[in-house]
Amino acid sequence: MSTSPLSIDVYVAPMRPYTCPDQLGEGEVATWAPSSSTLISGPTEAILIDALLTFENADHIAAWAKSFGKKITGVYITHGHSDHWLGLARLLQHFPEARGYAAPEVAARAAWEVEFNKRSKYWTSRFPGELPETPVVPEVLNTDEILVDGQVVNLIHVGQGDIEGSTIFHVPSADAVVCGDVVYNNVHMMMYEADQAKREAWIASIDAVGSLNAKTVVAGHKSVGAADLPENLAASQLYLRNFTTLAKKGGTVEDLVHGMLELHGERDQPHTLWISARAEVARRA
Ligand SMILES: [Zn+2]
Repeated sequence: MSTSPLSIDVYVAPMRPYTCPDQLGEGEVATWAPSSSTLISGPTEAILIDALLTFENADHIAAWAKSFGKKITGVYITHGHSDHWLGLARLLQHFPEARGYAAPEVAARAAWEVEFNKRSKYWTSRFPGELPETPVVPEVLNTDEILVDGQVVNLIHVGQGDIEGSTIFHVPSADAVVCGDVVYNNVHMMMYEADQAKREAWIASIDAVGSLNAKTVVAGHKSVGAADLPENLAASQLYLRNFTTLAKKGGTVEDLVHGMLELHGERDQPHTLWISARAEVARRA
């Protein structure tokens, strides 16, 4: 059977304000990071990678994806953080023939996040009226090989990203890899759950992505219009290393934020840097 190579297209939901209950730092603005959803398509079929968060996210992804005129056969989730899959409930209403899937470790974390939000209202308090009452958790995917019009997409269990148990999707025929939050592109990187040891594991995960030698590298959080280049791999590693170097100096949250802004001030979403810095200083105590 002859098969056409697959194509990659990326939708980016722009950075936006949200209802933040936390005390903010001097000059800090509470925004949510710009986030990507990727369409992997063949001649007739396509899959989506990540469903994002809000009703609006899902509606925009659906309208964009429908414009390609392909049958959406599934929505696959890279990792368990709710901002990458809570939009699934709404998105599947637009694509009733499709279902949501994730690797076992991703589906397990997503299920944990549902219970966490029931207890803490973490997500529903930050995005009031924008999230489903009853989330749809992705179903467990028991294979690492997905077919789109007969062409393979490989799910790779890469491990540590901005969360443990992260997965990426390699598309050999497109020479592309869709990385979720293992790679960032011109956006400050979330280290709320990544202490120094986990940052080192994260750097190793990025090496594993690099070993695929893909020409297109799609980050889970990227600026609108930023190019999906392999340079984002080394840039993400440098960011993590610089954070560790500055954190070891042992200053305040402000010292860490301002030090990172001197090195990486071009990135979107400094609010995430503040969150990472507060978490790091708290871990030190
Ligand atoms: Zn994320």
